Amino acid sequence: NTNRQDRDKEVNVQVLLRCRPLSDEEQRANVPRVITCSEHKREVTVANKQVDRVFTFDKVFGPKAQQRSIYDQAISPIVNEVLDGFNCTVFAYGQTGTGKTYTMEGGMRNKGGDLPAEAGVIPRAVRQIFDILEAQNADYSMKVTFLELYNEEITDLLSPEDSSRCGEDRQKKPISLMEDGKGCVVVRGLEEEAVYSANEIYTLLERGSAKRRTADTLLNKRSSRSHSVFSITIYVKEAAVGDEDLIKCGKLNLVDLAGSENISRSGAREGRAREAGEINKSLLTLGRVINALVEHSAHIPYRDSKLTRLLRDSLGGKTKTCIIATISPSAHCLEETLSTLDYAYRAK
Ligand code: ADP
Ligand code: MG
Repeated sequence: NTNRQDRDKEVNVQVLLRCRPLSDEEQRANVPRVITCSEHKREVTVANKQVDRVFTFDKVFGPKAQQRSIYDQAISPIVNEVLDGFNCTVFAYGQTGTGKTYTMEGGMRNKGGDLPAEAGVIPRAVRQIFDILEAQNADYSMKVTFLELYNEEITDLLSPEDSSRCGEDRQKKPISLMEDGKGCVVVRGLEEEAVYSANEIYTLLERGSAKRRTADTLLNKRSSRSHSVFSITIYVKEAAVGDEDLIKCGKLNLVDLAGSENISRSGAREGRAREAGEINKSLLTLGRVINALVEHSAHIPYRDSKLTRLLRDSLGGKTKTCIIATISPSAHCLEETLSTLDYAYRAK
């Protein structure tokens, strides 16, 4: 099957760049801008008195880009792949405060349950999945998990247990990562919720996000140093062959990564990163895994971090990966912006 072979050779990593608008506060303070985006040329220009550099990406979204247009142009095709039985992952990568969570979550839902204009990737993906399956009158089932990875430890954001604790004693049930021999990842001890409607998922997401925020207040800046991974696995009954049902299974991972300032400052040199503890190991390893994938290396260092082990069955091979790199237009963020652009550019 030539189609299959072509697909195996393709590099299925897409890198998008999104620049947020200046905040009201930044506008009042007349913060200078150093970023210009050209969506049709797919270019980002960084310019001030010292710097003048241009970066090209698969897609570029400027400060005026709406949540909906990013979704329709970049994410919707990925969700179609998932419904065709592939595993796919979308990452938000960037400095804290540049719009990772806004891009991934945004506003979840309005009172009536419909999507607000600020709804981000996760609520839109959930809506699209149900719309398509229902339009096809499909016989399907679905499960979701929502976890946080902090300091190379997994916390279940869906488990109903006490969220007022943090740190080591917050986690009562040990969660461990295993592989099932067929290359599939199994997370033992993680709550898996079977879900039947988009609204049910929104409720779980709100619960998980609230838990993440609580932990954040208790341990200052925790969320900027942790990764959150929302995964949805979809099983669709295709046909019955004799007595057996043929099931098509696809998984979508939506990942809000730790702030990239956690590696760009301390992680330039390996030793410094280690000094900062294990916090950044997953972010560093993710960069190496993606580089190895785009360069077709023989060795992909999945095993070097929890995040890459967790996503192993959804990174590389026939899977599709999308990285949304987020930046600020402000001159004050110039250094971080350049390191985000470099990181994202290397992933292409
Ligand atoms: P991060 O998760 O990367 O730390 P946030 O998503 O929390 O950043 O964004 C920081 C602030 O900027 C939030 O108040 C968010 O609503 C706002 N923001 C980010 N991106 C945009 C955007 N594209 N349009 C409007 N507001 C945005
Ligand atoms: Mg965030």
